[in-house]
Amino acid sequence: MHYKRILLKLSGEALMGERQYGIDPKRLAEYAEEIKSVVDHGIELAIVIGGGNIFRGVSGASRGMDRVQGDHMGMLATVINGLALQSALEDAEIQTRLQSAIKINEVAEPFIRRKAIRHLEKGRVVIFGGGTGNPYFTTDSAAVLRAIEINADVILKGTRVDGIYNADPEKDKKATKFDFISFEDVIKKGLKVMDTTAFTLSQENELPIVVFDMNTPGNLLRVVTGENIGTKVNL
Ligand code: UDP
Repeated sequence: MHYKRILLKLSGEALMGERQYGIDPKRLAEYAEEIKSVVDHGIELAIVIGGGNIFRGVSGASRGMDRVQGDHMGMLATVINGLALQSALEDAEIQTRLQSAIKINEVAEPFIRRKAIRHLEKGRVVIFGGGTGNPYFTTDSAAVLRAIEINADVILKGTRVDGIYNADPEKDKKATKFDFISFEDVIKKGLKVMDTTAFTLSQENELPIVVFDMNTPGNLLRVVTGENIGTKVNL
Protein backbone atom coordinates (compact mmCIF):
# COMPACT_ATOMS: atom_id res chain seq x y z
CA MET A 1 0.00 0.00 0.00
CA HIS A 2 1.19 3.46 -0.86
CA TYR A 3 -0.35 5.18 2.15
CA LYS A 4 -0.99 3.98 5.67
CA ARG A 5 -3.25 6.68 7.05
CA ILE A 6 -5.38 8.81 4.78
CA LEU A 7 -7.87 11.59 5.08
CA LEU A 8 -10.66 11.46 2.54
CA LYS A 9 -12.52 14.71 1.83
CA LEU A 10 -16.01 14.29 0.41
CA SER A 11 -18.10 17.31 -0.48
CA GLY A 12 -21.71 17.47 0.62
CA GLU A 13 -22.72 17.80 -3.01
CA ALA A 14 -21.19 14.42 -3.77
CA LEU A 15 -23.83 12.83 -1.55
CA MET A 16 -26.66 14.24 -3.69
CA GLY A 17 -26.01 11.71 -6.46
CA GLU A 18 -28.47 12.56 -9.22
CA ARG A 19 -30.56 14.77 -6.94
CA GLN A 20 -30.61 18.56 -6.65
CA TYR A 21 -30.58 18.61 -2.85
CA GLY A 22 -30.07 16.37 0.17
CA ILE A 23 -28.76 12.84 0.35
CA ASP A 24 -29.06 9.98 -2.14
CA PRO A 25 -29.00 6.67 -0.22
CA LYS A 26 -27.77 4.82 -3.32
CA ARG A 27 -24.73 7.10 -3.59
CA LEU A 28 -24.04 6.67 0.11
CA ALA A 29 -24.13 2.88 -0.23
CA GLU A 30 -21.74 3.07 -3.21
CA TYR A 31 -19.30 5.20 -1.22
CA ALA A 32 -19.54 2.79 1.70
CA GLU A 33 -18.43 -0.06 -0.60
CA GLU A 34 -15.51 2.02 -1.88
CA ILE A 35 -14.48 2.83 1.67
CA LYS A 36 -14.82 -0.79 2.74
CA SER A 37 -12.42 -1.88 0.01
CA VAL A 38 -9.61 0.25 1.47
CA VAL A 39 -10.41 -0.47 5.12
CA ASP A 40 -10.28 -4.21 4.33
CA HIS A 41 -6.67 -3.65 3.20
CA GLY A 42 -5.76 -2.34 6.65
CA ILE A 43 -5.65 1.33 5.65
CA GLU A 44 -6.46 3.80 8.41
CA LEU A 45 -9.13 6.12 7.09
CA ALA A 46 -10.59 9.37 8.39
CA ILE A 47 -13.23 11.31 6.50
CA VAL A 48 -14.18 14.97 6.48
CA ILE A 49 -17.59 15.54 5.03
CA GLY A 50 -18.96 18.80 3.62
CA GLY A 51 -22.44 20.23 3.93
CA GLY A 52 -23.09 22.03 0.65
CA ASN A 53 -25.92 19.63 -0.29
CA ILE A 54 -27.93 21.05 2.62
CA PHE A 55 -26.69 24.53 3.47
CA ARG A 56 -23.83 26.93 2.81
CA GLY A 57 -23.23 29.98 4.99
CA VAL A 58 -22.30 32.20 2.03
CA SER A 59 -25.51 31.46 0.16
CA GLY A 60 -27.52 32.32 3.29
CA ALA A 61 -25.55 35.57 3.59
CA SER A 62 -26.21 36.42 -0.06
CA ARG A 63 -29.93 36.33 0.77
CA GLY A 64 -29.53 38.66 3.75
CA MET A 65 -28.89 36.17 6.54
CA ASP A 66 -26.21 36.89 9.10
CA ARG A 67 -23.09 35.05 7.86
CA VAL A 68 -22.16 33.52 11.19
CA GLN A 69 -25.70 32.25 11.66
CA GLY A 70 -25.54 30.71 8.19
CA ASP A 71 -22.17 29.12 8.90
CA HIS A 72 -23.57 27.55 12.04
CA MET A 73 -26.31 26.03 9.87
CA GLY A 74 -23.66 24.83 7.43
CA MET A 75 -21.68 23.18 10.21
CA LEU A 76 -24.79 21.41 11.47
CA ALA A 77 -25.42 20.25 7.89
CA THR A 78 -22.04 18.50 7.93
CA VAL A 79 -23.07 16.69 11.11
CA ILE A 80 -26.27 15.50 9.39
CA ASN A 81 -24.19 14.22 6.47
CA GLY A 82 -21.77 12.60 8.92
CA LEU A 83 -24.61 10.72 10.58
CA ALA A 84 -25.93 9.55 7.20
CA LEU A 85 -22.47 8.39 6.15
CA GLN A 86 -21.98 6.64 9.48
CA SER A 87 -25.21 4.67 8.96
CA ALA A 88 -24.20 3.67 5.46
CA LEU A 89 -20.76 2.53 6.67
CA GLU A 90 -22.32 0.54 9.50
CA ASP A 91 -24.67 -1.14 7.02
CA ALA A 92 -21.52 -2.20 5.19
CA GLU A 93 -20.18 -3.56 8.49
CA ILE A 94 -17.49 -0.97 8.93
CA GLN A 95 -16.81 0.23 12.46
CA THR A 96 -17.08 4.00 12.65
CA ARG A 97 -17.01 6.90 15.04
CA LEU A 98 -18.38 10.36 14.32
CA GLN A 99 -16.51 13.21 16.00
CA SER A 100 -17.91 16.71 15.85
CA ALA A 101 -16.05 20.00 16.09
CA ILE A 102 -19.12 21.55 17.71
CA LYS A 103 -20.37 19.92 20.88
CA ILE A 104 -23.46 17.86 20.23
CA ASN A 105 -22.73 15.11 22.70
CA GLU A 106 -25.93 13.09 22.44
CA VAL A 107 -25.31 12.69 18.74
CA ALA A 108 -21.55 12.53 18.18
CA GLU A 109 -18.33 12.33 20.16
CA PRO A 110 -16.54 15.63 20.60
CA PHE A 111 -13.38 16.01 18.51
CA ILE A 112 -10.50 14.75 20.63
CA ARG A 113 -7.35 14.26 18.63
CA ARG A 114 -5.86 11.44 20.70
CA LYS A 115 -9.14 9.55 20.68
CA ALA A 116 -9.44 9.96 16.95
CA ILE A 117 -5.96 8.50 16.47
CA ARG A 118 -6.78 5.61 18.83
CA HIS A 119 -9.94 4.82 16.82
CA LEU A 120 -7.90 4.78 13.62
CA GLU A 121 -5.31 2.47 15.15
CA LYS A 122 -8.13 0.10 16.07
CA GLY A 123 -9.31 0.05 12.47
CA ARG A 124 -12.33 2.27 12.92
CA VAL A 125 -13.22 4.85 10.31
CA VAL A 126 -13.41 8.27 11.93
CA ILE A 127 -15.80 10.79 10.40
CA PHE A 128 -15.10 14.40 11.34
CA GLY A 129 -18.25 16.54 11.32
CA GLY A 130 -18.81 20.19 12.13
CA GLY A 131 -15.97 21.46 9.94
CA THR A 132 -13.36 23.32 11.96
CA GLY A 133 -16.04 24.46 14.41
CA ASN A 134 -15.54 28.07 13.31
CA PRO A 135 -17.50 30.28 10.94
CA TYR A 136 -15.77 31.69 7.84
CA PHE A 137 -13.98 28.41 7.19
CA THR A 138 -14.76 25.58 4.81
CA THR A 139 -14.70 21.85 5.16
CA ASP A 140 -11.65 21.82 2.87
CA SER A 141 -9.82 23.73 5.60
CA ALA A 142 -11.21 21.27 8.15
CA ALA A 143 -9.90 18.41 6.01
CA VAL A 144 -6.38 19.82 5.89
CA LEU A 145 -6.42 20.72 9.59
CA ARG A 146 -7.58 17.27 10.69
CA ALA A 147 -5.20 15.54 8.28
CA ILE A 148 -2.25 17.38 9.84
CA GLU A 149 -3.52 16.76 13.36
CA ILE A 150 -3.83 13.00 12.87
CA ASN A 151 -0.57 12.80 10.87
CA ALA A 152 -2.25 11.56 7.71
CA ASP A 153 0.07 10.74 4.80
CA VAL A 154 -2.17 12.42 2.26
CA ILE A 155 -5.51 14.13 1.62
CA LEU A 156 -7.62 12.45 -1.00
CA LYS A 157 -10.13 14.86 -2.44
CA GLY A 158 -12.86 12.78 -4.03
CA THR A 159 -14.68 14.76 -6.71
CA ARG A 160 -16.67 14.16 -9.89
CA VAL A 161 -13.77 15.20 -12.15
CA ASP A 162 -10.75 12.97 -12.52
CA GLY A 163 -8.08 15.47 -11.56
CA ILE A 164 -6.74 18.99 -12.01
CA TYR A 165 -6.87 20.42 -15.53
CA ASN A 166 -5.29 23.53 -17.07
CA ALA A 167 -8.86 24.72 -17.87
CA ASP A 168 -12.37 23.65 -16.83
CA PRO A 169 -12.84 20.25 -18.53
CA GLU A 170 -16.61 20.61 -18.33
CA LYS A 171 -16.39 23.76 -20.50
CA ASP A 172 -13.19 23.44 -22.54
CA LYS A 173 -12.75 20.25 -24.61
CA LYS A 174 -9.03 20.94 -25.10
CA ALA A 175 -8.30 21.05 -21.38
CA THR A 176 -5.48 18.72 -20.37
CA LYS A 177 -4.99 16.99 -17.05
CA PHE A 178 -1.90 17.16 -14.83
CA ASP A 179 -0.68 13.89 -13.33
CA PHE A 180 1.53 15.77 -10.89
CA ILE A 181 1.74 19.46 -10.09
CA SER A 182 3.54 21.47 -7.42
CA PHE A 183 1.75 23.67 -4.90
CA GLU A 184 3.60 26.62 -6.39
CA ASP A 185 2.41 25.90 -9.93
CA VAL A 186 -1.20 25.56 -8.78
CA ILE A 187 -0.96 29.07 -7.31
CA LYS A 188 1.01 30.51 -10.27
CA LYS A 189 -1.47 29.13 -12.79
CA GLY A 190 -4.45 30.24 -10.71
CA LEU A 191 -5.93 26.72 -10.64
CA LYS A 192 -8.69 25.87 -8.19
CA VAL A 193 -8.01 22.84 -6.04
CA MET A 194 -9.24 24.03 -2.65
CA ASP A 195 -9.90 27.47 -1.22
CA THR A 196 -6.73 29.46 -0.55
CA THR A 197 -6.81 29.03 3.24
CA ALA A 198 -7.02 25.25 2.96
CA PHE A 199 -4.49 25.06 0.15
CA THR A 200 -1.76 27.11 1.81
CA LEU A 201 -2.23 25.21 5.08
CA SER A 202 -1.55 22.02 3.16
CA GLN A 203 1.46 23.55 1.41
CA GLU A 204 3.00 24.91 4.60
CA ASN A 205 2.70 21.51 6.25
CA GLU A 206 3.96 19.60 3.21
CA LEU A 207 0.82 17.52 3.07
CA PRO A 208 0.20 16.16 -0.43
CA ILE A 209 -3.27 16.33 -1.98
CA VAL A 210 -4.64 13.88 -4.52
CA VAL A 211 -7.68 15.00 -6.51
CA PHE A 212 -9.48 12.06 -8.11
CA ASP A 213 -12.84 10.90 -9.43
CA MET A 214 -14.62 9.27 -6.51
CA ASN A 215 -17.60 8.19 -8.62
CA THR A 216 -15.79 5.51 -10.61
CA PRO A 217 -15.94 2.25 -8.67
CA GLY A 218 -12.52 1.01 -7.57
CA ASN A 219 -10.82 4.41 -7.83
CA LEU A 220 -10.36 4.97 -4.11
CA LEU A 221 -8.47 1.69 -3.79
CA ARG A 222 -6.48 2.49 -6.96
CA VAL A 223 -5.28 5.77 -5.45
CA VAL A 224 -4.40 4.12 -2.17
CA THR A 225 -2.36 1.42 -3.90
CA GLY A 226 -0.36 4.13 -5.63
CA GLU A 227 -1.86 3.83 -9.11
CA ASN A 228 -1.30 7.03 -11.00
CA ILE A 229 -4.86 8.23 -11.38
CA GLY A 230 -6.12 11.73 -10.63
CA THR A 231 -3.67 14.55 -9.95
CA LYS A 232 -1.18 14.65 -7.12
CA VAL A 233 -0.21 18.03 -5.68
CA ASN A 234 3.12 17.87 -3.96
CA LEU A 235 6.03 20.14 -3.03
N1 UDP B 1 -18.62 25.71 7.66
C1 UDP B 1 -18.12 26.58 8.60
N2 UDP B 1 -16.89 26.31 9.17
C2 UDP B 1 -16.16 25.22 8.82
C3 UDP B 1 -16.68 24.35 7.83
C4 UDP B 1 -17.91 24.62 7.27
O1 UDP B 1 -18.74 27.57 8.95
O2 UDP B 1 -15.08 25.01 9.38
C5 UDP B 1 -19.97 25.96 7.09
C6 UDP B 1 -19.96 26.98 5.95
O3 UDP B 1 -21.14 27.74 6.05
C7 UDP B 1 -19.99 26.08 4.73
C8 UDP B 1 -20.87 24.94 5.19
O4 UDP B 1 -20.50 24.77 6.56
O5 UDP B 1 -20.56 26.74 3.63
C9 UDP B 1 -20.71 23.64 4.45
O6 UDP B 1 -19.35 23.34 4.26
P1 UDP B 1 -18.67 23.38 2.80
O7 UDP B 1 -19.25 24.50 2.01
O8 UDP B 1 -17.20 23.35 2.99
O9 UDP B 1 -19.18 21.99 2.21
P2 UDP B 1 -18.88 21.30 0.80
O10 UDP B 1 -18.66 22.39 -0.22
O11 UDP B 1 -17.66 20.46 0.95
O12 UDP B 1 -20.10 20.48 0.56
